[in-house]
Amino acid sequence: MIIIMHDNAKKEEISAVEEKLTKFGFLTHPIYGEKKTVIGAIGDKRQISMNEILLMSGVEKVVPIMRPYKLASKELKQEKSVIDVGYGVTIGGKKLAVFAGPCAVEGREHFLKMSRLVKDAGANILRGGAFKPRTSPYSFGGLEGEGLKIMREAGDELGMPICTEVMDTRDVELVAEYADIIQIGARNMQNFKLLREVGKCNKPIFLKRGLASTIEEWLMAAEYIMSEGNDRVILCERGIRTYETSTRNTFDVSAIPVTQELTHLPIIADPSHATGNYKYVGAVAKAGIAAGADGIMVEVHDCPECAASDGPQSLKPDKFTELMEELRRIAAAIGREI
Ligand code: PEP
Ligand code: MN
Repeated sequence: MIIIMHDNAKKEEISAVEEKLTKFGFLTHPIYGEKKTVIGAIGDKRQISMNEILLMSGVEKVVPIMRPYKLASKELKQEKSVIDVGYGVTIGGKKLAVFAGPCAVEGREHFLKMSRLVKDAGANILRGGAFKPRTSPYSFGGLEGEGLKIMREAGDELGMPICTEVMDTRDVELVAEYADIIQIGARNMQNFKLLREVGKCNKPIFLKRGLASTIEEWLMAAEYIMSEGNDRVILCERGIRTYETSTRNTFDVSAIPVTQELTHLPIIADPSHATGNYKYVGAVAKAGIAAGADGIMVEVHDCPECAASDGPQSLKPDKFTELMEELRRIAAAIGREI
Protein backbone atom coordinates (compact mmCIF):
# COMPACT_ATOMS: atom_id res chain seq x y z
CA MET A 1 0.00 0.00 0.00
CA ILE A 2 0.93 3.64 -0.34
CA ILE A 3 0.67 6.02 2.56
CA ILE A 4 0.38 9.60 1.41
CA MET A 5 1.34 12.02 4.14
CA HIS A 6 -0.18 15.50 4.46
CA ASP A 7 1.76 18.38 2.91
CA ASN A 8 4.35 19.39 5.44
CA ALA A 9 3.82 16.35 7.66
CA LYS A 10 6.36 16.37 10.49
CA LYS A 11 9.42 14.14 10.49
CA GLU A 12 8.24 12.43 13.69
CA GLU A 13 4.86 11.67 12.10
CA ILE A 14 6.58 10.06 9.12
CA SER A 15 8.84 7.96 11.31
CA ALA A 16 5.94 6.92 13.54
CA VAL A 17 4.13 5.56 10.48
CA GLU A 18 7.27 3.78 9.31
CA GLU A 19 7.86 2.30 12.76
CA LYS A 20 4.34 0.98 12.99
CA LEU A 21 4.53 -0.61 9.56
CA THR A 22 7.91 -2.17 10.31
CA LYS A 23 6.51 -3.61 13.54
CA PHE A 24 3.87 -5.41 11.48
CA GLY A 25 6.51 -6.86 9.17
CA PHE A 26 6.25 -4.35 6.32
CA LEU A 27 9.18 -3.19 4.26
CA THR A 28 8.90 0.59 4.05
CA HIS A 29 10.16 2.75 1.26
CA PRO A 30 9.73 6.49 1.82
CA ILE A 31 9.86 8.85 -1.15
CA TYR A 32 10.44 12.45 -0.18
CA GLY A 33 8.86 14.89 -2.62
CA GLU A 34 9.19 18.66 -2.49
CA LYS A 35 6.02 19.05 -0.43
CA LYS A 36 4.72 15.58 0.16
CA THR A 37 6.19 12.42 1.52
CA VAL A 38 4.81 9.15 0.29
CA ILE A 39 5.63 5.85 1.98
CA GLY A 40 5.48 2.63 0.02
CA ALA A 41 4.74 -0.29 2.34
CA ILE A 42 5.22 -3.82 1.10
CA GLY A 43 4.02 -6.69 3.22
CA ASP A 44 1.10 -8.82 4.26
CA LYS A 45 -1.94 -6.53 4.33
CA ARG A 46 -3.78 -8.92 6.65
CA GLN A 47 -1.39 -7.95 9.46
CA ILE A 48 -2.79 -4.45 9.87
CA SER A 49 -5.90 -2.57 8.78
CA MET A 50 -5.51 0.34 6.42
CA ASN A 51 -7.77 2.28 8.73
CA GLU A 52 -5.33 1.97 11.59
CA ILE A 53 -2.70 3.74 9.50
CA LEU A 54 -5.18 6.26 8.15
CA LEU A 55 -5.96 7.38 11.70
CA MET A 56 -2.36 8.16 12.50
CA SER A 57 -1.30 11.76 12.77
CA GLY A 58 0.01 13.33 9.54
CA VAL A 59 -1.55 10.71 7.27
CA GLU A 60 -3.71 12.02 4.42
CA LYS A 61 -4.56 8.89 2.45
CA VAL A 62 -3.85 5.18 2.27
CA VAL A 63 -4.20 3.49 -1.11
CA PRO A 64 -3.52 -0.09 -2.13
CA ILE A 65 -1.04 -0.78 -4.96
CA MET A 66 -2.94 -2.89 -7.44
CA ARG A 67 -0.05 -4.04 -9.63
CA PRO A 68 1.87 -7.17 -8.62
CA TYR A 69 5.11 -5.18 -8.76
CA LYS A 70 5.04 -2.48 -6.12
CA LEU A 71 8.33 -0.59 -5.76
CA ALA A 72 8.77 -0.55 -9.54
CA SER A 73 5.24 0.69 -10.06
CA LYS A 74 4.19 4.13 -11.16
CA GLU A 75 1.41 3.89 -8.61
CA LEU A 76 4.06 4.29 -5.94
CA LYS A 77 6.19 6.90 -7.67
CA GLN A 78 4.87 9.06 -10.47
CA GLU A 79 7.98 11.00 -11.42
CA LYS A 80 10.53 9.21 -13.55
CA SER A 81 13.57 7.93 -11.73
CA VAL A 82 16.79 9.55 -12.78
CA ILE A 83 19.61 7.17 -11.95
CA ASP A 84 23.07 8.37 -11.12
CA VAL A 85 25.63 5.93 -12.53
CA GLY A 86 28.76 7.86 -11.63
CA TYR A 87 31.21 10.13 -13.47
CA GLY A 88 28.48 12.76 -13.75
CA VAL A 89 26.28 10.51 -15.92
CA THR A 90 22.59 10.08 -15.13
CA ILE A 91 20.02 7.90 -16.88
CA GLY A 92 16.38 8.91 -17.21
CA GLY A 93 16.79 12.66 -17.49
CA LYS A 94 16.87 14.91 -20.54
CA LYS A 95 20.27 13.68 -21.67
CA LEU A 96 20.26 10.28 -23.36
CA ALA A 97 22.55 7.48 -22.26
CA VAL A 98 24.71 5.88 -24.93
CA PHE A 99 26.28 2.58 -23.89
CA ALA A 100 28.78 1.43 -26.49
CA GLY A 101 31.66 -0.98 -26.88
CA PRO A 102 32.38 -4.48 -28.12
CA CYS A 103 30.23 -7.43 -27.14
CA ALA A 104 33.14 -8.98 -25.24
CA VAL A 105 36.34 -7.59 -23.80
CA GLU A 106 38.87 -9.31 -26.05
CA GLY A 107 42.12 -7.81 -24.80
CA ARG A 108 43.57 -4.68 -23.22
CA GLU A 109 44.80 -2.84 -26.32
CA HIS A 110 41.64 -3.60 -28.24
CA PHE A 111 39.25 -2.53 -25.50
CA LEU A 112 41.14 0.69 -24.83
CA LYS A 113 41.12 1.49 -28.55
CA MET A 114 37.39 0.79 -28.88
CA SER A 115 36.62 2.79 -25.75
CA ARG A 116 38.45 5.86 -27.03
CA LEU A 117 36.68 5.59 -30.37
CA VAL A 118 33.18 5.31 -28.91
CA LYS A 119 33.86 8.14 -26.49
CA ASP A 120 34.97 10.37 -29.37
CA ALA A 121 31.77 9.56 -31.22
CA GLY A 122 29.68 10.61 -28.20
CA ALA A 123 29.09 7.51 -26.08
CA ASN A 124 28.95 8.26 -22.36
CA ILE A 125 29.03 4.71 -20.92
CA LEU A 126 31.36 1.84 -21.86
CA ARG A 127 29.98 -1.64 -22.34
CA GLY A 128 31.79 -4.96 -22.65
CA GLY A 129 31.42 -8.52 -21.46
CA ALA A 130 33.95 -10.14 -19.14
CA PHE A 131 31.62 -13.04 -18.32
CA LYS A 132 29.82 -14.05 -21.51
CA PRO A 133 26.65 -16.15 -21.67
CA ARG A 134 27.22 -18.29 -24.78
CA THR A 135 24.85 -20.73 -26.41
CA SER A 136 27.72 -23.14 -27.02
CA PRO A 137 30.01 -24.26 -24.19
CA TYR A 138 32.86 -24.24 -26.75
CA SER A 139 32.51 -20.53 -27.59
CA PHE A 140 34.65 -17.79 -26.01
CA GLY A 141 33.31 -17.25 -22.49
CA GLY A 142 35.10 -14.02 -21.68
CA LEU A 143 38.31 -12.94 -19.94
CA GLU A 144 36.52 -12.88 -16.56
CA GLY A 145 38.57 -11.12 -13.84
CA GLU A 146 41.17 -9.96 -16.35
CA GLY A 147 38.39 -8.46 -18.47
CA LEU A 148 37.02 -6.55 -15.49
CA LYS A 149 40.45 -5.01 -14.83
CA ILE A 150 40.77 -3.93 -18.45
CA MET A 151 37.35 -2.32 -18.38
CA ARG A 152 38.15 -0.50 -15.16
CA GLU A 153 41.36 0.83 -16.66
CA ALA A 154 39.46 2.16 -19.68
CA GLY A 155 36.76 3.69 -17.48
CA ASP A 156 39.35 5.39 -15.30
CA GLU A 157 41.38 6.65 -18.23
CA LEU A 158 38.38 8.14 -20.01
CA GLY A 159 36.37 9.14 -16.95
CA MET A 160 33.41 6.99 -18.00
CA PRO A 161 31.18 4.51 -16.16
CA ILE A 162 31.50 0.88 -17.25
CA CYS A 163 28.68 -1.64 -17.61
CA THR A 164 29.32 -5.38 -17.58
CA GLU A 165 27.36 -8.56 -17.03
CA VAL A 166 27.33 -10.89 -14.06
CA MET A 167 25.99 -14.41 -14.56
CA ASP A 168 26.57 -16.09 -11.22
CA THR A 169 25.80 -15.14 -7.62
CA ARG A 170 29.37 -16.15 -6.72
CA ASP A 171 30.79 -13.39 -8.94
CA VAL A 172 28.58 -10.51 -7.81
CA GLU A 173 31.04 -9.21 -5.24
CA LEU A 174 33.91 -9.26 -7.73
CA VAL A 175 31.95 -7.61 -10.54
CA ALA A 176 30.60 -4.96 -8.14
CA GLU A 177 34.17 -4.13 -7.16
CA TYR A 178 35.02 -3.09 -10.73
CA ALA A 179 31.78 -2.15 -12.51
CA ASP A 180 29.77 1.04 -12.23
CA ILE A 181 26.67 -0.65 -13.65
CA ILE A 182 25.99 -4.37 -13.36
CA GLN A 183 24.18 -6.03 -16.24
CA ILE A 184 21.76 -8.90 -15.82
CA GLY A 185 21.51 -10.50 -19.24
CA ALA A 186 18.36 -11.69 -20.96
CA ARG A 187 19.08 -15.33 -20.08
CA ASN A 188 19.22 -14.54 -16.40
CA MET A 189 16.26 -12.21 -16.15
CA GLN A 190 14.43 -14.78 -14.07
CA ASN A 191 17.41 -16.10 -12.13
CA PHE A 192 15.77 -15.07 -8.90
CA LYS A 193 18.76 -15.83 -6.65
CA LEU A 194 20.97 -13.67 -8.86
CA LEU A 195 18.37 -10.88 -8.85
CA ARG A 196 18.24 -10.95 -5.04
CA GLU A 197 22.02 -10.93 -4.83
CA VAL A 198 22.45 -7.87 -7.05
CA GLY A 199 19.61 -6.28 -5.11
CA LYS A 200 21.90 -6.32 -2.10
CA CYS A 201 24.75 -4.47 -3.78
CA ASN A 202 25.20 -0.79 -4.03
CA LYS A 203 25.49 -0.49 -7.82
CA PRO A 204 22.88 0.36 -10.48
CA ILE A 205 21.54 -2.72 -12.26
CA PHE A 206 20.98 -2.90 -16.02
CA LEU A 207 18.17 -5.42 -16.38
CA LYS A 208 17.68 -6.85 -19.84
CA ARG A 209 14.31 -8.20 -20.85
CA GLY A 210 14.21 -12.01 -21.00
CA LEU A 211 14.18 -13.74 -24.36
CA ALA A 212 10.53 -14.66 -23.99
CA SER A 213 9.33 -12.54 -21.11
CA THR A 214 6.26 -10.41 -20.84
CA ILE A 215 6.57 -6.85 -19.64
CA GLU A 216 4.95 -7.86 -16.37
CA GLU A 217 7.50 -10.64 -15.79
CA TRP A 218 10.26 -8.17 -16.54
CA LEU A 219 8.92 -5.66 -14.03
CA MET A 220 8.58 -8.46 -11.47
CA ALA A 221 12.29 -9.16 -12.03
CA ALA A 222 12.98 -5.47 -11.32
CA GLU A 223 10.85 -5.82 -8.20
CA TYR A 224 13.05 -8.69 -6.96
CA ILE A 225 16.08 -6.39 -7.14
CA MET A 226 14.26 -3.46 -5.57
CA SER A 227 12.76 -5.55 -2.79
CA GLU A 228 16.32 -6.15 -1.54
CA GLY A 229 16.85 -2.41 -1.20
CA ASN A 230 18.44 -1.51 -4.54
CA ASP A 231 16.15 0.88 -6.36
CA ARG A 232 18.63 1.85 -9.08
CA VAL A 233 17.30 -0.40 -11.83
CA ILE A 234 17.57 0.44 -15.54
CA LEU A 235 15.47 -1.63 -17.94
CA CYS A 236 16.70 -2.67 -21.36
CA GLU A 237 14.51 -3.82 -24.26
CA ARG A 238 16.74 -6.09 -26.37
CA GLY A 239 14.18 -7.87 -28.51
CA ILE A 240 12.12 -10.95 -27.83
CA ARG A 241 11.77 -14.33 -29.53
CA THR A 242 9.01 -14.47 -32.07
CA TYR A 243 8.29 -16.69 -35.08
CA GLU A 244 10.19 -14.21 -37.29
CA THR A 245 13.61 -15.53 -38.25
CA SER A 246 14.95 -12.77 -40.49
CA THR A 247 16.28 -10.95 -37.44
CA ARG A 248 17.86 -12.53 -34.36
CA ASN A 249 14.98 -11.30 -32.19
CA THR A 250 12.04 -8.95 -32.70
CA PHE A 251 12.49 -5.48 -31.24
CA ASP A 252 9.36 -4.65 -29.24
CA VAL A 253 9.18 -0.91 -29.82
CA SER A 254 5.86 -0.53 -28.03
CA ALA A 255 7.44 -1.98 -24.89
CA ILE A 256 9.01 1.46 -24.48
CA PRO A 257 5.81 3.50 -24.04
CA VAL A 258 4.09 0.60 -22.27
CA THR A 259 6.77 0.26 -19.59
CA GLN A 260 6.90 4.03 -19.20
CA GLU A 261 3.21 3.96 -18.38
CA LEU A 262 3.71 1.24 -15.79
CA THR A 263 6.99 2.12 -14.14
CA HIS A 264 9.13 5.08 -13.14
CA LEU A 265 12.32 3.20 -14.08
CA PRO A 266 14.32 4.34 -17.12
CA ILE A 267 14.44 2.18 -20.24
CA ILE A 268 17.22 1.69 -22.78
CA ALA A 269 16.89 0.25 -26.30
CA ASP A 270 19.42 -2.35 -27.48
CA PRO A 271 19.17 -2.56 -31.28
CA SER A 272 22.24 -4.84 -31.54
CA HIS A 273 20.87 -7.91 -29.77
CA ALA A 274 17.37 -7.12 -31.04
CA THR A 275 18.33 -7.42 -34.70
CA GLY A 276 21.53 -9.47 -34.73
CA ASN A 277 22.52 -7.70 -37.94
CA TYR A 278 24.51 -4.46 -38.23
CA LYS A 279 22.41 -3.40 -41.25
CA TYR A 280 19.32 -2.90 -39.11
CA VAL A 281 20.94 -1.52 -35.98
CA GLY A 282 20.69 2.14 -37.01
CA ALA A 283 17.00 2.03 -37.92
CA VAL A 284 16.05 0.29 -34.69
CA ALA A 285 18.22 2.59 -32.57
CA LYS A 286 16.46 5.58 -34.13
CA ALA A 287 13.05 4.00 -33.59
CA GLY A 288 13.90 3.35 -29.94
CA ILE A 289 14.93 6.94 -29.28
CA ALA A 290 11.96 8.32 -31.22
CA ALA A 291 9.66 6.10 -29.13
CA GLY A 292 10.99 7.68 -25.95
CA ALA A 293 13.78 5.40 -24.75
CA ASP A 294 16.23 6.97 -22.32
CA GLY A 295 19.18 5.80 -24.37
CA ILE A 296 20.68 2.99 -26.39
CA MET A 297 23.17 0.18 -25.98
CA VAL A 298 25.12 -0.54 -29.15
CA GLU A 299 27.86 -3.04 -29.92
CA VAL A 300 30.80 -1.52 -31.78
CA HIS A 301 33.81 -3.37 -33.19
CA ASP A 302 36.55 -2.24 -35.57
CA CYS A 303 36.79 -5.70 -37.14
CA PRO A 304 33.39 -7.40 -36.90
CA GLU A 305 34.66 -10.40 -38.91
CA CYS A 306 37.28 -11.11 -36.26
CA ALA A 307 35.11 -10.34 -33.20
CA ALA A 308 35.10 -13.02 -30.50
CA SER A 309 31.32 -12.70 -30.20
CA ASP A 310 28.40 -10.94 -31.88
CA GLY A 311 30.45 -9.69 -34.83
CA PRO A 312 27.53 -9.75 -37.32
CA GLN A 313 25.59 -7.20 -35.28
CA SER A 314 28.52 -4.94 -34.42
CA LEU A 315 28.80 -1.50 -36.01
CA LYS A 316 32.15 -0.34 -37.29
CA PRO A 317 33.28 2.86 -35.55
CA ASP A 318 32.56 5.12 -38.58
CA LYS A 319 29.00 3.77 -38.83
CA PHE A 320 28.54 4.33 -35.11
CA THR A 321 29.73 7.92 -35.49
CA GLU A 322 27.22 8.48 -38.31
CA LEU A 323 24.44 6.97 -36.22
CA MET A 324 25.26 9.28 -33.34
CA GLU A 325 24.88 12.26 -35.66
CA GLU A 326 21.43 11.08 -36.74
CA LEU A 327 20.43 10.37 -33.17
CA ARG A 328 21.42 13.89 -32.13
CA ARG A 329 18.91 15.26 -34.61
CA ILE A 330 16.14 12.94 -33.41
CA ALA A 331 16.95 13.73 -29.79
CA ALA A 332 16.69 17.47 -30.48
CA ALA A 333 13.34 16.98 -32.24
CA ILE A 334 11.84 15.33 -29.17
CA GLY A 335 13.33 17.61 -26.56
CA ARG A 336 16.18 15.34 -25.51
CA GLU A 337 19.90 15.62 -26.05
CA ILE A 338 22.96 13.42 -26.47
C1 PEP B 1 25.22 -8.68 -24.24
O1 PEP B 1 24.85 -7.56 -23.86
O2 PEP B 1 26.31 -8.88 -24.80
C2 PEP B 1 24.26 -9.81 -24.10
C3 PEP B 1 24.70 -11.06 -24.00
O3 PEP B 1 22.99 -9.42 -24.13
P1 PEP B 1 21.60 -10.25 -23.97
O4 PEP B 1 21.59 -10.76 -22.57
O5 PEP B 1 20.57 -9.21 -24.26
O6 PEP B 1 21.61 -11.35 -25.00
MN1 MN C 1 26.59 -9.27 -27.38
